[in-house]
Amino acid sequence: MPIQKKQISLYFHIPFCSQKCDYCHFYVLPDKDLFKQQLMEGLELEWKKILPLLSDAHLVSIYFGGGTPSLLGVESLAKILSWIEKEGLLNPEAEITLEANPENVNLPLMKGYARAGINRLSLGIQTFDPELLKILRRTHTTEKALRAVEEVSEAGIKNISVDLMYDIPYQTFDQWAQTLQQAVQLPITHLSFYNLTIEPHTSFYKRRAQLRKALPDPETSLAMLTHGIEYLSSHGLQRYEISAFARQSCYSRHNLGYWTARPFLGLGPSAFSYWEKERFRNIAHLGKYLEYLRKNESPIDFREKLKYQEHLQELLAVELRLMKGVNLAEFQSRHGNITHVMLETLQDLVESELLQKHGDIFTLTEKGKNFYDTVASELVGSED
Ligand code: SF4
Repeated sequence: MPIQKKQISLYFHIPFCSQKCDYCHFYVLPDKDLFKQQLMEGLELEWKKILPLLSDAHLVSIYFGGGTPSLLGVESLAKILSWIEKEGLLNPEAEITLEANPENVNLPLMKGYARAGINRLSLGIQTFDPELLKILRRTHTTEKALRAVEEVSEAGIKNISVDLMYDIPYQTFDQWAQTLQQAVQLPITHLSFYNLTIEPHTSFYKRRAQLRKALPDPETSLAMLTHGIEYLSSHGLQRYEISAFARQSCYSRHNLGYWTARPFLGLGPSAFSYWEKERFRNIAHLGKYLEYLRKNESPIDFREKLKYQEHLQELLAVELRLMKGVNLAEFQSRHGNITHVMLETLQDLVESELLQKHGDIFTLTEKGKNFYDTVASELVGSED
């Protein structure tokens, strides 16, 4: 019998942005050539370091996230893909996603990325409303965002995802509805939307007292969420995960890995990995990241091996984000048996009408979809 290869994903963190958005809490660096050279040197050293882990791997997806990875340049990105190809790991069906921001998109650049092997593009649009773009301190205009999607498509990358946001300070229901209307008319295959949260270490956080007063009230926020789900579904974008919608089943294969515990290795400063039931993260500092690698030391600065039961609780909670739910028998054959207490928690969630059960399959109810955080915290908090 042929040996089953281990399905895995790779993530490359490219931390450059032309300017930092006011709500951003990611590790971001200015777009400078010196930093790019340092990153490429670090990534190559890290790639060589992790290679022994990949001997029996089948690569399902590669994701270039950031930051604004499209700022890396076609040549550097092609170089990274050539390292993977050289090891015979780059199979033709692998989904290869690049994140980009509209202001950096143009037709020749996108054609270059398509030639290099990018077959999926994820655009950080957030809103089409000009006033809200200013509030977020995004550097693109409405027109540029609309044109960027067309340019990506024209370049031959047909699998296009856009990210949108609601709960932006000063955002009205009508502005949200208008953004959705504009989005569904575009040649996109995928859309994710999230509510904005004001995180520590951001410019928004410093102004939180004033901005919190300007947030949509809870009723408007719920109306935005409900409208978003209904409107997208009625325009061919099927909700397949709490925040993700797809046309013609163009699900994000990379993100499906996150929701179903597919192992992945993250390269680059601040990149997370999940491997052999362990989570770890590289240091969020380009200089130190490179320094460790030059000394042939590990750039990892955080490592967490969850206990067996905690691990199962988390996996179950995360997989329940999927609208198709979790087949418990199949889940247990993949990950191991859940405890009696976890099973009781699942039954309690069914009784509270947050989950429903058909045969072995547990799915979120409509109420459960709106209160997913409660479902997750009940499951993660269940103890022996
Ligand atoms: S584009 Fe994205 S990663 Fe860059 S600063 Fe804005 S939110 Fe952060």
